[in-house]
Amino acid sequence: MAGNLSFEDLKSAAKSGDLDTVLVCAVDMQGRLMGKRFHVQNFIDSSHDETHCCNYLLATDLEMATPDGYATTSWRAGYGDYVMKPDLSTLRRVPWLEGTAMVLCDLLDHHTHEPVPQSPRQMLKTQIARLKELGYEAMMATELEFFLFEQSFRDLARSGYRELTPISAYNEDYHILQTTKEEAIMRPVRNHLFVAGIPVENSKGEAETGQEELNIRYAEAMDCADHHTIAKHAVKEIAWANGRAATFLPKWNRNKVGSAAHVHMSLWSGKTPAFHDPDRKHGMSELMGHFMAGLIEYATDYTWFLAPYVNSYKRFMKGSFAPTRTVWSVDNRTAGFRLCGEGTKAVRVECRIGGADINPYLAQAVLLAAGIRGLEEKLELAPPTTGDVYENAEARHIPSTLRDATETLRGSKMLRAAFGDAVIDHYVRCAEWEQEEFDKAVTDWEIARGFERA
Ligand code: ADP
Repeated sequence: MAGNLSFEDLKSAAKSGDLDTVLVCAVDMQGRLMGKRFHVQNFIDSSHDETHCCNYLLATDLEMATPDGYATTSWRAGYGDYVMKPDLSTLRRVPWLEGTAMVLCDLLDHHTHEPVPQSPRQMLKTQIARLKELGYEAMMATELEFFLFEQSFRDLARSGYRELTPISAYNEDYHILQTTKEEAIMRPVRNHLFVAGIPVENSKGEAETGQEELNIRYAEAMDCADHHTIAKHAVKEIAWANGRAATFLPKWNRNKVGSAAHVHMSLWSGKTPAFHDPDRKHGMSELMGHFMAGLIEYATDYTWFLAPYVNSYKRFMKGSFAPTRTVWSVDNRTAGFRLCGEGTKAVRVECRIGGADINPYLAQAVLLAAGIRGLEEKLELAPPTTGDVYENAEARHIPSTLRDATETLRGSKMLRAAFGDAVIDHYVRCAEWEQEEFDKAVTDWEIARGFERA
């Protein structure tokens, strides 16, 4: 289900005073919603067609810095504009904000009106189009894990993030009692998203103090990424409105489990699940074997898109349910790829590598690119791994640091062929900058360890 508000409905709602604001949003490299709040009348009269934003929005970091080294924009080039082109099929109400609707935009070149290839939505569109050429459509789902805290964002920032108190005092995996205490946030999250046209399946407590998971029904790939982005945004806004904080940082405490964003994938040919073949082992079609073989073969190429920050790599710890090796398993949570729905029409592969900090458009785009390459090369899928994959020394490792993942990204012929050199060089620069910024930091750990004793 895409957005659920037609332009005509928006006009009627504006007339009756029911809606007065439209959030016109693009998605940046970090997967955040960036844009402007329009008066509904201006949106109806003109900006529904197009508006604009500074092109640094695809060349900045979490702090809105303006790093050098991007070919698309710079101080020298004068930081021009991108066209923000509302995709009216994504128009929806934002029920957790009064009188507000939202639309997602594609980014276009200001002069040529051509799509900006580095734009996360465009990168996903490119792979969806490649798949369509082959006669398939991808259905995907992402699981959102995150932590809720007793304090507000502001209080935590003021304390220098030193007094982080998770909203529960114990591991709340599947707990109904504890999650009841979190309903002030999670009930509006589920219900408001549902009204916004996002098919929420459920929320549940996860395996740590204060950790929640939100599951959304699988959808066509672009809708899935839109759903994820809006849901993550809603969790933060609804937590904020309740005087609480939510974090999607993959690892906020060395002694706590991290937060993941597992991605489920299946290919369909019209209404036929193309991954299903009841006559083959596990009910997996030959096509699914090739696709999975591509995912596994190229996992080190695209790891950066599943783990884009220094912190992302802190999650990959042995015995933590966060996978470190590029193998697959049947319903085994220690492997990078898990076969789900074995033998049924819902047979699918779950990639367990990504952290909660993924940009879903980018993550889905590179997973599809790797799977498509597997189909093109007719790669053979090795037999599944069994037992504790952490102890399987033969299985290949994904890069274990941001630095390593940046190099495998830089050297990826597969990704360069799928997206073009300009796009991959752009994201290599993004990765390098994150590392450069971290290299300048003096961390609490260094001070505590060495202040007196070094
Ligand atoms: P888990 O045991 O991993 O929590 P679930 O049964 O909750 O598994 O499903 C996880 C996700 O997989 C859900 O978001 C669901 O919508 C999605 N899913 C189910 N069937 C498919 C499919 N055929 N293709 C892609 N995703 C699917």
